[in-house]
Amino acid sequence: MSARIISGTETAKVIREEIKKETAELKEQQGIVPGLVTILVGEDPASVSYVTAKQKTSHDLGFYSVQDTQPSDISEEMLLGLIHKYNNDPKIHGILVQLPLPSHINENRVLNAIDPDKDVDGFHPVNIGRLMIGGKDTRFLPCTPAGIRELIVRSGIETEGAEVVVVGRSNIVGKPIANILLQKAEGANATVTVIHTRTRDMAFHCRRADILIVAAGVPGLVKAEWIKPGACVIDVGVNRVGEKISAKTGRKIAILRGDVDFEAAREIAGAITPVPGGVGPMTITMLMVNTLKAAKFAAEQA
Ligand code: NAP
Repeated sequence: MSARIISGTETAKVIREEIKKETAELKEQQGIVPGLVTILVGEDPASVSYVTAKQKTSHDLGFYSVQDTQPSDISEEMLLGLIHKYNNDPKIHGILVQLPLPSHINENRVLNAIDPDKDVDGFHPVNIGRLMIGGKDTRFLPCTPAGIRELIVRSGIETEGAEVVVVGRSNIVGKPIANILLQKAEGANATVTVIHTRTRDMAFHCRRADILIVAAGVPGLVKAEWIKPGACVIDVGVNRVGEKISAKTGRKIAILRGDVDFEAAREIAGAITPVPGGVGPMTITMLMVNTLKAAKFAAEQA
């Protein structure tokens, strides 16, 4: 039987409606409007389109949104000064610096300068540390892993006691999602294995997975025969494998493929995310969840 499709597009829509409602309540009851600044350095077309999408979404949700574009030759000191300004701006609750930054700027230095309470991307060492420790002090989860957890939980997939295998150990996806699902908490409590390029027998580990999360960046890496029948498969990979003409706009668009051999895998898995339309739409949505959270936190502190 063909697997149930876990739609990130649909789940993101539901979460965005929840955010809209909570944002309106926060404004009405406490006079606070969540504020998000996106800082873009230079004019890299992919970065411009990511930042535009983030701005549009935050605006649609009723946030106060600021787009701050700086020239590609801005000095590191100037950029740090800008971060300092937004750290001290009470109307701004979330600061996002679009990566990558030009090579003359030390990315870590810039990201580490963001106030951890405004770090809505969830990459500041303080927030990564809070995630590792777990419990009520956990503040912001990195957006893509947080989106993966939402997809799993909202699809009614049991994580407690589940064997979770994560393919990939990057700081932005693999390591944080492994830590999130390992937490002693609802929607977690899983037994987690993380595999990577030095793992001896990938197929062996994948076949044990009740929940298989793949974030390797290698198109079609995971074969159908590596999947346990009935497993939940979350494909994080976004790989450009060619171009086509969009029937809607007549423009050239990228053909995207995930890290899982989707067509064959859907005949074995119990539930699976598509690419595109799976994890992708969740990432921006979780950025908005974090910004709302930051605004609520600021309201509590006031
Ligand atoms: P990354 O930093 O390149 O890390 C890839 C990880 O996968 C590494 O740990 C690597 O192992 C492992 N890996 C690569 N090839 C492998 C192989 N043949 N066998 C076993 N492990 C392998 O990538 P990332 O940033 O985590 O992104 C992964 C994918 O997710 C990419 O396609 C990216 O575009 C996509 N992504 C999507 C979203 C979204 O919003 N949908 C967000 C972020 C990323 P080693 O550590 O041993 O090198």
